[in-house]
Amino acid sequence: LLALPTAAFMLQDQEVHAAEMERTFIAIKPDGVQRGLISEIITRFERKGFKLVGLKIMVPSKGFAQQHYHGAKERPFFNGLCDFISSGPVVAMVWEGEGVIRYGRKLIGATDPKKSEPGTIRGDLAVVVARNIIHGSDGPETAKDEISLWFKPEELVSYTNNAEKWIYG
Ligand code: ADP
Repeated sequence: LLALPTAAFMLQDQEVHAAEMERTFIAIKPDGVQRGLISEIITRFERKGFKLVGLKIMVPSKGFAQQHYHGAKERPFFNGLCDFISSGPVVAMVWEGEGVIRYGRKLIGATDPKKSEPGTIRGDLAVVVARNIIHGSDGPETAKDEISLWFKPEELVSYTNNAEKWIYG
């Protein structure tokens, strides 16, 4: 192994990075927007080293909210949740990075802000579960589905950020 030329190691590294690169869907809910937390939330993802590849603000219709939360349609709070999500502007984002799906959920914190750790977005910035300010995909399949629900392919931007070589080495 030691006899391998440096270039081979570099290629191997890049392949590892490419294989682990993921995208997740993150939304700032109407409460987060109204409370002036857009920049605060973007900052937390940005300074971690994740890359913003999609961003827009929109008021989802109730039908759209129901589609987004279809996995929760049997839950007692489903109707109220969809009313709330469609009640005002939502900031929809796609973030890219190694492990961003799982780590994004860690940055966000537990669903109920009373149980979210301090230092997480919900832990620091929210109090009750029905106003927990942010959504993040909970796995690779939901990330794929949610990204394609909220964004057209041409709305997502693939680019190299010059900081990546300092973030990933
Ligand atoms: P998460 O958003 O952390 O993935 P869930 O998928 O369990 O959590 O729930 C979706 C959303 O439904 C939560 O973010 C929250 O806004 C809302 N919700 C969850 N549980 C309750 C509840 N008991 N009462 C009201 N709203 C809830």
